[in-house]
Amino acid sequence: MTTLLTNICELVTNDAALGDGSPLGTLRDAALVIEDGGVAWVGPAAGAPAADERVDLGGRAVVPGFVDSHTHLVFAGERSAEFAARMAGERYTGGGIATTVAATRAASDEELRALARARADAMTASGTTTFEAKSGYGLTTVDEARILRISREFTDETTFLGAHAVPAEFADDRSGYLDLVTGGMLAACAPLARWIDVFCDEDAFDEDEARAVLTAGIAAGLMPRLHGNQLGFGPGARLAVELGAASVDHCTYLTDADVAALAGSTTVATLLPTADFGTRSPYPDARRLIDAGVAVALATDCNPGTSYVTSMPFVIALAVRETGMTPAEALHAATAAGARALRRGDIGRLSTGARADLVALDAPTYVHLAYRPGSSLVHQVWRAGVPA
Ligand SMILES: [Zn+2]
Repeated sequence: MTTLLTNICELVTNDAALGDGSPLGTLRDAALVIEDGGVAWVGPAAGAPAADERVDLGGRAVVPGFVDSHTHLVFAGERSAEFAARMAGERYTGGGIATTVAATRAASDEELRALARARADAMTASGTTTFEAKSGYGLTTVDEARILRISREFTDETTFLGAHAVPAEFADDRSGYLDLVTGGMLAACAPLARWIDVFCDEDAFDEDEARAVLTAGIAAGLMPRLHGNQLGFGPGARLAVELGAASVDHCTYLTDADVAALAGSTTVATLLPTADFGTRSPYPDARRLIDAGVAVALATDCNPGTSYVTSMPFVIALAVRETGMTPAEALHAATAAGARALRRGDIGRLSTGARADLVALDAPTYVHLAYRPGSSLVHQVWRAGVPA
């Protein structure tokens, strides 16, 4: 069974060898053939091969499905009062995580699953075809494993984030909690996760603690990524490079040495501008990172405290307006670089051999994603070649 998608005004492949020679590898008046869930052919519509089924996209633009490499998918409760207080002038400190931990522990599996499903459906509806999902709102062995088990019903990209915060019951025994996160909790969660993460920042875990968490995770077979440099200057980015992390996420406060270290590494800087929006914080400087040669990705950070956002188009628009990215750079960051931040070669691009994850936009060009913020431009989403 083959499906020909044709009459594509603008096709973004993210393969620089195709199309106009730019990193987006853009083709005009293009077509694409899907076979067995993958991309079997891309090229000019006039030269397209025959297929079993033909879909006329009516001059729409087609882009790779968005890769949201940073979400906290599974949680219960909401924190709108905290948001309103911040908008009235209070500063974000990270202390509100305990509110969500209490609500999540109290929720049943069915409740958590239904909440996660609604968020996953919203992500898909806005063009996301792959998302990562972290634990971190359980903070007991049972609840962290429960969150990961439910997350795995929605994605293969699951991340153990027991080191999100020290729970209240360990307030006087920080080292005891770290022993648990690197010991019994890790042992229970590692089989359910692909990644290990830690919140390394002011008011969170320090450099030695973060290194201990990540090295324990690596020893348990997980790959490292981390939250860092969100609330202030700190060791997060350097530690990410030191440990070969796939990504360091937030990156608002970076020294020149941090930027240089990232530029010479395989670690992606993942920016989460909707978290800065939701905390009325300074935005990271994507322009500085890109000009230095750092790989930059964009993600939603979907979570109830700082960024209750499921829409990658909104992230793209905000990144263009507030972090110094061009529309082309932001689209690349939301697709190809997101895939790189998950160390995935099969997604984030639309050239032969890629998974057929794609989005047709009700627009003649991807630029409309940033040009028309707040508009729902997603016409149709395919995941592994199947309409989502
Ligand atoms: Zn996060």
